[in-house]
Amino acid sequence: MRQPEPEPQSFNRVLSSMCTEPHPDARAAAERFLATNPGDPATYEAVADLEAQAVEGLATLAAHPTPSDAAGYVTSGGTEANVQAVRSARNRHEGSDAEKGERDINVVAPESAHFSFHKAAELLGVELRTVPLDDDYRADPEAVAAAVDDATALVVGVAGSTEYGRVDPIPELGSIADEVGAGFHVDAAWGGFVLPFTDHAWSFADAPVDTLTIDPHKFGQAPVPAGGLLAREDAALDALAVDTPYLETRSQATLTGTRSGAGVAGAVAAIDALWPDGYREAAERAAENAEWLAGELADRGYDAVEPELPLVAADVPESEFRALRDAGWKVSRTGTGELRVVCMPHVTRAALRAFIDDLDRIRR
Ligand SMILES: *Cc1c(COP(=O)(O)O)cnc(C)c1O
Repeated sequence: MRQPEPEPQSFNRVLSSMCTEPHPDARAAAERFLATNPGDPATYEAVADLEAQAVEGLATLAAHPTPSDAAGYVTSGGTEANVQAVRSARNRHEGSDAEKGERDINVVAPESAHFSFHKAAELLGVELRTVPLDDDYRADPEAVAAAVDDATALVVGVAGSTEYGRVDPIPELGSIADEVGAGFHVDAAWGGFVLPFTDHAWSFADAPVDTLTIDPHKFGQAPVPAGGLLAREDAALDALAVDTPYLETRSQATLTGTRSGAGVAGAVAAIDALWPDGYREAAERAAENAEWLAGELADRGYDAVEPELPLVAADVPESEFRALRDAGWKVSRTGTGELRVVCMPHVTRAALRAFIDDLDRIRR
């Protein structure tokens, strides 16, 4: 029986997603390269060249010292990039025997770290030590310093946390990692395309960052799946390489084998179209929208967290949250139950006004 053609949902009322409508050039490029496989670069040479461009573009955003020969690749998302960062640090940690999957290696991350680090720890057999935040939802350097020891392979800092959009004190965390000989990873999966237009310290230029996650498929306006892993030195990626006997290229550092060239081509096209002015405009618009929304919520008596990056969290009663969901608004809640709105590029001021109008109707 013929079914009606399924339609993807529109972004009109999507307020909690970290994904967004791709740039039209990025969508077109992704379609063009859909059936290529950058996992086999000796066969799919065109997309392999594009991947080098994507890495250079991402490395430029993240102020890598030498973007044109930065190590990295386009991952399936922030999750894969974070898993690989943990894996690389584990493999490089002095005295470790990765093959045995020794249990006594640890990774120290703030409580705000994305849940992908829990997946990484479980997969890789390392202990994840999560440390408390300060009272503004950022990693507390003292707590991090107290948690690290000789067996710490990696310290994680978050530059744009998933729940509150907070930027950890990256230089301080980098120094702590340095002191104990641990690797240092910055998770800028979501924040990486807005942070270059702020005065936050977050990049390779600001701290001894070894590896960094930055996702084109979030604020980068590239189609899914396009995440990014960058490394200061080739050695971080070399630590991930396994032999690939039946391919012309003799080793592979990615976690996935076959992967779609769509993510790679989409990322390059988005960066070509938008870096830097288009991204700057998007970041500024998003920041203004977040400020506006936080102000409107505060005016109505809700306890709103001051947005640092374009993400608004506010205490909204459960009944009102449910009514907003029932009205079709795709909103979500933080772990402690606050309403969470991510001001992605598709989230317009008009949509936010309509959202506030609905909230006013619900409150009446
Ligand atoms: C979204 C996000 C991730 C995970 O990325 P996926 O692309 O969903 O795998 C990791 N870290 C942070 C900070 C994120 O915001």
